[in-house]
Amino acid sequence: MRNILITGGAGFIGSHLVINFVKKYKSYHIINIDKLTYASNIKFLDEINNFKNYTFIQADICDTYKIETIFKKYKISDVIHLAAESHVDNSIENSLEFAKTNILGTINLLELSRRNWVNNKNNLFYHISTDEVFGSLDESGNFSENSKYDPHSPYSASKASSDHFVRAFYDTHKLPVIISNCSNNYGPNQHKEKLIPTVINALINKSKIPVYGNGKNVRDWLYVQDHVEAIDMIFHNGSVGETYCIGGKNEIKNIDLINLIIKEFDKRKQNKNSSIDLISYVDDRLGHDYRYAIDISKIKNELGWEPKTNINSGLRKTLNWYLND
Ligand code: NAD
Repeated sequence: MRNILITGGAGFIGSHLVINFVKKYKSYHIINIDKLTYASNIKFLDEINNFKNYTFIQADICDTYKIETIFKKYKISDVIHLAAESHVDNSIENSLEFAKTNILGTINLLELSRRNWVNNKNNLFYHISTDEVFGSLDESGNFSENSKYDPHSPYSASKASSDHFVRAFYDTHKLPVIISNCSNNYGPNQHKEKLIPTVINALINKSKIPVYGNGKNVRDWLYVQDHVEAIDMIFHNGSVGETYCIGGKNEIKNIDLINLIIKEFDKRKQNKNSSIDLISYVDDRLGHDYRYAIDISKIKNELGWEPKTNINSGLRKTLNWYLND
């Protein structure tokens, strides 16, 4: 029996993870805590509301008293930590919430895990992080578990800081931890502020599709269900104290990705005129990283995980969800 605290389970990735674990692992009790910020949508979880092995509690990960009560009441054995302020643009406007949730909130969870877990034998603190902590790549090369930390945005700086604290608790207190750093996720349930939903919504509303700078920045896109499978494997078979990098093997320039979405959208809507004219170049994001890419050798060789979804089929599934068909 494991009583797993999943944080941020009403957000994009968290909602997929919670649903997957609740349905797949009937002997686990999943306790989902989420502050329910603007980025969340509790309706994503409607389909599991009546499952006996599922509990939702609205809570802020910075609230020591409330989280401590949850640890004791539910005898929390493991933490999978996803709760975060996650939008880079917001962190450029105001970074304070990012420091509070991403850094202090993570430290709060680490302290409570350390205090409540007696001998750490059957416990795991699994921290979900981003490849953005490694900074930006040129045309060649990949991020790996050995890449040095070089965050550029307040968001990635806050995630880098949280990673360092997680590792410090492993080194100092022998807290059983694992970290994974993944590339850009996409799929159903993603908040409309992010790139792919922004493009789809603009196409639906026939409004301008904003493209930062020259559109040539490269991202590696990971379909959210593939990420959930990787988290599942790492949670069950990963080695304590290790980091795993998770990528989608779908590297593409932003502008090429946008063109792909437009092509697929127009095909579905049988649009005679291409929606390409909706593209509108805007000032580049401050501190915009040029390229992210991930070497997945470690997770592939050690755990046998590989992404299954290529960008074309992932985008089709994502469009199905946004277009509701
Ligand atoms: P999201 O913004 O969709 O969801 C975050 C969730 O955390 C929301 O439901 C929000 O209400 C909750 N939350 C925020 N502050 C909280 C607080 N103080 N207490 C409790 N809950 C709080 O984010 P996401 O895209 O699902 O990302 C989940 C995790 O994965 C984050 O840690 C993020 O850094 C990481 N990540 C995401 C991506 C991506 O492409 N989406 C890529 C790499 C890493």
